Amino acid sequence: MNLAIDAGGTNLRASVKNITYREKSNKIGLASFIEGILGKHKNIKTIGISYAGQVEDGVIIDSPNIKVDIKNIKEYFKAKYDISLFIENDLTCAVIAEASELKSKNICALYVGTGLGLGAIDHEKVIKGNNNLSCEIGHIPYKKAPFRCGCGRDNCIENFISGAGIIKWIDYYNLTCSPTLEALKNDENPDSKKILKEFEEALFFAAGTTITLFNPEILVLGGGIIEANPYLVGKIISNIDNFALKPILKNCKIIKSELQDASLIGASLLKDIK
Ligand SMILES: [Zn+2]
Repeated sequence: MNLAIDAGGTNLRASVKNITYREKSNKIGLASFIEGILGKHKNIKTIGISYAGQVEDGVIIDSPNIKVDIKNIKEYFKAKYDISLFIENDLTCAVIAEASELKSKNICALYVGTGLGLGAIDHEKVIKGNNNLSCEIGHIPYKKAPFRCGCGRDNCIENFISGAGIIKWIDYYNLTCSPTLEALKNDENPDSKKILKEFEEALFFAAGTTITLFNPEILVLGGGIIEANPYLVGKIISNIDNFALKPILKNCKIIKSELQDASLIGASLLKDIK
């Protein structure tokens, strides 16, 4: 039996045999959460975890919003329970789920939510990098902002394309509207329009950069902000000519994700990745 976990910045969610368990990510340690579930289901043989933070070879490196009680989590569950555990970052899990759903061997998943994330698969292989830190598209240098990104720099593209970035811009301009694209669009203040325009420009830039670097067969867009604003996908398609290399675009489809729970689905598929 397979246990899939989505360890997100807000919630820990687990799915086993169609039963879902949920806890706040800052309330209970990830390993304790899992051990509670193992107490209820005795036949679990593998655990797959989608993790909203940095991980490398089964070890949790960085955990901004998730309470971590055991860092070397893969080894811990092997030694104590003889269970095989697989853990990867949430965008790696999302792109694995998208590749499986869309039956693609060359695919990139660009997700826009609280942050901006990317996962890439090339010839069925997940692009990982030397320390499993590749594809950090949110932190590519773009333009200076009057505030800092979570990583400490002030020129990351995530300052322009993310829920967290929108909140910072609204605060910077002293606006009163809520931090959604819809609210910015309907707000009278010209600064709201400016934030929206900057958001869209940066999104074209990120999509074009992704396509130009990875030459994917499919670029799939997902995450909370895309889900709430599906028109963005059409806008990317009509503007992408100015942001990506033309010969690559000829055979590249740009689509919206149809998965409700890509990270959790990807977590359940982790044991099969190459
Ligand atoms: Zn950054």
